Amino acid sequence: MKLYNTLSKSHEDFVTHEEGLVKMYTCGPTVYHYAHIGNLRTYIFEDILVKGLEYIGYKVDRVMNITDVGHLTSDADSGEDKMTKGAKREGKTVYEIANFYTEAFFKDMENLNIRKPSIIEKASDHIDIYIKMIERLLKLDYAYISHGNVYFDISKVKDYYRLSGKNPEDLLIGVRDTVEKDDFKRNPYDFALWFTVSKFENQDMKWDSPWGVGYPGWHIECSGICYEKLGEYLDIHCGGVDNIFPHHTNEIAQSEAFLGHKWCNFWCHGAHLNDETGKMSKSKGEFLTVDLLISKGYSPLDYRFFCLNSHYRNSLVFSYDSLDIAKNTLNKLKNKVLSLTKEGDIDKNKFDIYKKRFSSSFENDINTSSMITVIYDVLKDNDLTDNTKFCLIEDFDRVLSLDLTVEKKKNVSLENEEEIIKKIEERKIAKRNKDFILADKIRDELLSKGIKLIDTREGTTYELL
Ligand code: AMP
Ligand code: ZN
Repeated sequence: MKLYNTLSKSHEDFVTHEEGLVKMYTCGPTVYHYAHIGNLRTYIFEDILVKGLEYIGYKVDRVMNITDVGHLTSDADSGEDKMTKGAKREGKTVYEIANFYTEAFFKDMENLNIRKPSIIEKASDHIDIYIKMIERLLKLDYAYISHGNVYFDISKVKDYYRLSGKNPEDLLIGVRDTVEKDDFKRNPYDFALWFTVSKFENQDMKWDSPWGVGYPGWHIECSGICYEKLGEYLDIHCGGVDNIFPHHTNEIAQSEAFLGHKWCNFWCHGAHLNDETGKMSKSKGEFLTVDLLISKGYSPLDYRFFCLNSHYRNSLVFSYDSLDIAKNTLNKLKNKVLSLTKEGDIDKNKFDIYKKRFSSSFENDINTSSMITVIYDVLKDNDLTDNTKFCLIEDFDRVLSLDLTVEKKKNVSLENEEEIIKKIEERKIAKRNKDFILADKIRDELLSKGIKLIDTREGTTYELL
């Protein structure tokens, strides 16, 4: 398998430390708000990677963290604490915010057919391991204490900029404009391993440590959880491109300093989803969530299909027009698959040839659009029995997870769907006019036809019974 490695900036043959086993770490969400669909694009890419690796015969041990402490509004050590900001915004405790948005994230994953990693760990549950690592980094002189905080000294590692390919001189020019100057640090890009004295006085989550009561920096969380759950050697580490610098750069610096050897062989990064203004945002413009798409009549799998049609390393611009195209194409594809008669023998020879083509597309740096093309080729092939076609597509869908062979909601015809959305709109107007009798009548009418309305925070959606 060829996989693009951010570390070498080239496609490499994928090899693992242990034959047949992939140890994979994927950075999880910071649970201070809903995930936007950009965040979820990264999780969809990781999901395909896991399922594709399993499809070609690997066992995958995947670990993900939930960042519930230490992530500031800037990825460097400046700005407000994201969790505290979320708690203030909603008048709740940091713990309540973390629980609520972790559950919301899991629901998004389920809606998008993203399988939960086998191990998911909350950052706040692993303080002991961060302390152990930081103690060792201090002992080895990679870290230093300044004004009560513990910092990692980036000048102590060779090739600190290797992953990002950044130029320290350019960064230093940038730093004057973008990073708040922290006089406690020896070098501007040194990063906090442990905060005690900080301007974030309101931090709710605090723990005892050899350096005083405080909390860990964001980067040490991933290194700590990864070490604890997957050991000293990692095969693949993933995240979005924004994670390359400084987050993953810092993970490498501290993990390799702690371990005393190379840590992870493959670094895979998903390009961003942008909106038409250029950047996905949780605060400005329309906050694009899965629930919002559902409330507008899309299935979460329309969005999954939209993502899979482009390569994970190409940035992608979201628009409702493009999502409409994805939705209609997926509907048509699914209708074709479901109209197959499932009769006749399975042509084993042809089955294996197509399976091989599907695997090869995956093994070519996760080429999802070409994996989808194989489905169309199967459907077009007049030499295949319907049953062979159906079984092949069912097999591919173990990776693509588009529910192509599952008969449920998304198979509703377009006219029907438009009719339902019209009724939902009529009910919304009735409610606005406080005409609850009419609103209930519309709801009951739809229910009698097997269409159940579901009211969400983002609006009303429906389910076919
Ligand atoms: P966060 O919750 O901010 O820690 O981000 C969760 C994941 O989403 C990380 O892997 C980020 O790299 C990724 N991410 C952030 N913004 C985008 C975006 N616009 N498109 C794709 N992935 C993103
Ligand atoms: Zn991380």
